[in-house]
Amino acid sequence: MASGSAIQIPSRLPLLLTHEGVLLPGSTMRTSVDSPRNMQLVRSRLLKGTSLRSTIIGVLPNTSDPTSDCDDLPSLRRIGTAALAVQVVGSNWPKPHYTLLVTGLCRFQILQLLKEKPYPVAEVEQLDRLEQFTNQHKSEEELGELSEQFYKYAVQLVEMLDMSVPAVAKLRRLLDNLPREALPDILTSIIRTSNQEKLQILDAVRLEERFKMTIPLLVRQIEGLKLLQKTRKPKQDDDKRVVAIRPIRRINHIPSATEDEEEEEDHDDVVMLEKKIRTSSMSEQALKVCLKEIKRLKKMPQSMPEYALTRNYLELMVELPWNKSTKDRLEIRAARILLDNDHYAMEKLKKRVLEYLAVRQLKNNLKGPILCFVGPPGVGKTSVGRSIAKTLGREFHRIALGGVCDQSDIRGHRRTYVGSMPGRIINGLKTVGVNNPVFLLDEVDKLGKSLQGDPAAALLEVLDPEQNHSFTDHYLNVAFDLSQVLFIATANTTATIPPALLDRMEVIQVPGYTQEEKIEIAHRHLIPKQLEQHGLTPQQIQIPQVTTLDIITRYTREAGVRSLDRKLGAICRAVAVKVAEGQHKETKPDRAEVAEGEDCKEHITEDAKTESISDTADLALPPEMPILIDFHALKDILGPPMYEMEVSERLSQPGVAIGLAWTPLGGEIMFVEASRMDGEGQLTLTGQLGDVMKESAHLAISWLRSNAKRYQLTNASGSFDLLDNTDIHLHFPAGAVTKDGPSAGVTIVTCLASLFSGRLVCSDVAMTGEITLRGLVLPVGGIKDKVLAAHRAGLKRIIIPQRNEKDLEEIAVNSQLQEKNWRVTFSSCSLILKQTAS
Ligand code: ADP
Repeated sequence: MASGSAIQIPSRLPLLLTHEGVLLPGSTMRTSVDSPRNMQLVRSRLLKGTSLRSTIIGVLPNTSDPTSDCDDLPSLRRIGTAALAVQVVGSNWPKPHYTLLVTGLCRFQILQLLKEKPYPVAEVEQLDRLEQFTNQHKSEEELGELSEQFYKYAVQLVEMLDMSVPAVAKLRRLLDNLPREALPDILTSIIRTSNQEKLQILDAVRLEERFKMTIPLLVRQIEGLKLLQKTRKPKQDDDKRVVAIRPIRRINHIPSATEDEEEEEDHDDVVMLEKKIRTSSMSEQALKVCLKEIKRLKKMPQSMPEYALTRNYLELMVELPWNKSTKDRLEIRAARILLDNDHYAMEKLKKRVLEYLAVRQLKNNLKGPILCFVGPPGVGKTSVGRSIAKTLGREFHRIALGGVCDQSDIRGHRRTYVGSMPGRIINGLKTVGVNNPVFLLDEVDKLGKSLQGDPAAALLEVLDPEQNHSFTDHYLNVAFDLSQVLFIATANTTATIPPALLDRMEVIQVPGYTQEEKIEIAHRHLIPKQLEQHGLTPQQIQIPQVTTLDIITRYTREAGVRSLDRKLGAICRAVAVKVAEGQHKETKPDRAEVAEGEDCKEHITEDAKTESISDTADLALPPEMPILIDFHALKDILGPPMYEMEVSERLSQPGVAIGLAWTPLGGEIMFVEASRMDGEGQLTLTGQLGDVMKESAHLAISWLRSNAKRYQLTNASGSFDLLDNTDIHLHFPAGAVTKDGPSAGVTIVTCLASLFSGRLVCSDVAMTGEITLRGLVLPVGGIKDKVLAAHRAGLKRIIIPQRNEKDLEEIAVNSQLQEKNWRVTFSSCSLILKQTAS
């Protein structure tokens, strides 16, 4: 845009009040926008505007106190600069604000304020750069002498600067090419002037006045430069250059007519970037791409959106750890100790992990399968991953894959649009800063699939040792070597892991914990950790094992220890309050005395009200006595128990039996209820059942009908034909949870047998097993999880299929189970009936 051409601004302008700097026509300024009024203006005028017109705003220097900006409109100056908003950049840090790049067009004066809220809008009159002005060469003749004088000084000033700096050379050219009347504004913006002086220039609407006022400013700058050069004379030219650049740098204003504004300011950065690229250790292919991009960057005007895009790209390329790695240190014995120290129990897992690490050590380069820990939440899968990184001395990074359904999440977005970014793998590498971290791919079983491609396929490429040495992220568009990364995956179930992916992985099951194991984990690991986090010491709080057991059985029902950990955290918080209060009171007189003191009285009664662990509060007083968490304290802090033993109550009628179900969150006990009524032999099933489960129910009834005589089962009218004039309703409570699978077969049989025989099922027995039409019992999965669930629920006996006997080996390790009078019975259908009907 040639500065000489005429401009027409709208007659109504929204007003932007600026505190920093003064914008003069023909110059460009970056200003930060954070007041509510200005933000509103940016949002509704600039971010929504579509026509060019809407991007013209009135910039009005706000000379009143910046802090009073919030509510009332400050008194406005009469004259301001109409400006074109060239660029808006938003940011949320450290608080929400926009940075505006505005270019001054011309002066305007406010005729009338049209509205104040949400941002001021005024009717304005344009003061210069109008049609008649530019055509009026008369003005130039009249001002001949003044303008000539001004020009001379301007040239003198520019020549004192170092012409080898491109900005200066450009300025020199501008002096000749721009119309004279544009020069005072532009030069005032460039040389060192105070805001006050700039305001005066802004107010100088008449050109003559403007020339007159600018000349002394030029002279002052020339004198200043002369002085500086004199004092630095002995030194070489370099200094002159510094002197020359500084005054230009310091001020924000740069002539807008220079097309590639701010290029110089940025030039250095680009040069630095190029240097970084050349010295970085990136691959040859990457280097080639980067050098090409930087060449393009140099030619690009900074205001182009692609500029930022390219720059971000290059910065990422420089930052990536192409060749940087940590040195592996691995000593199997130390690893074993570390794993044992960090984790209680989970012997099988630890053993397998050590084997894996040992093979790694021997072979140095492992193209083996990826370890995948499968188990319910909170059993320490992530935690073991972290320990592996620790033993190897590697960085650790967790990549959450739950819900990821777009392959660009893994592989990045192509660099074609604003907002494109690299995938999680490359991002993770950037975060850890080395090329051999341990990446934990969390929840691979929860990968989604969508129209945006299959993330599992992308993940396959990442994990495949044949391919991943040249993994190409779409954003990078050059290959990155992932072969040094150690991948570990976690999942709750293998059922939903895409088969191709599962094929790459070695699954290690991590079942839940028994109560005894949980108590140990709590006392060895969780409690010490929580105490430390809350700044407590064992001298201040004591949690006996019975309390932990109470928390486990009455406040949590989970396979892992995550809720347990949270509950312990809640206890520590409550105790921390008491301890802090105790310390507080220590500095005061004795409690008895305090109660009499008037001012503190209220404080204490309020205390007793709001903090419910009032009994323990007394214990907090002598600092050397730990606060003991007994069941009462537990109830005060955590509220009434959430899970009470209700099993025996529910089994007080015939027609109820307890089955065992497996879910990705661990095992669960499952009640089966049946009732019969007069009808036409219909079977009703309720409780969100899958097809397989429904079939099991039909199978069970058929088998019972065919064996009714043998077991003396009759319907209400005494007939062995169980469905004669009878309807049966089978219900699986907790209807919100979908249940499926064949393993409820024996439970349904037992439940119905109890219903038709009128005998109760023992209240301490749980069972699992699939049945066939002929009454055979087939083995089922998830035995350990199911046994643990029965154990959690306080059941003493469990009936499992004979062919699951091998699964018991694993459980038998837990001798505690046996000590506690546990009995496991193997069954065929007929056996169950004898067992249960006692
Ligand atoms: P997951 O990844 O299986 O969901 P986490 O690794 O996040 O579970 O474990 C939850 C918490 O329980 C962690 O603080 C972890 O240290 C602790 N934890 C779980 N199992 C054990 C264990 N066997 N020994 C010690 N701490 C454990």
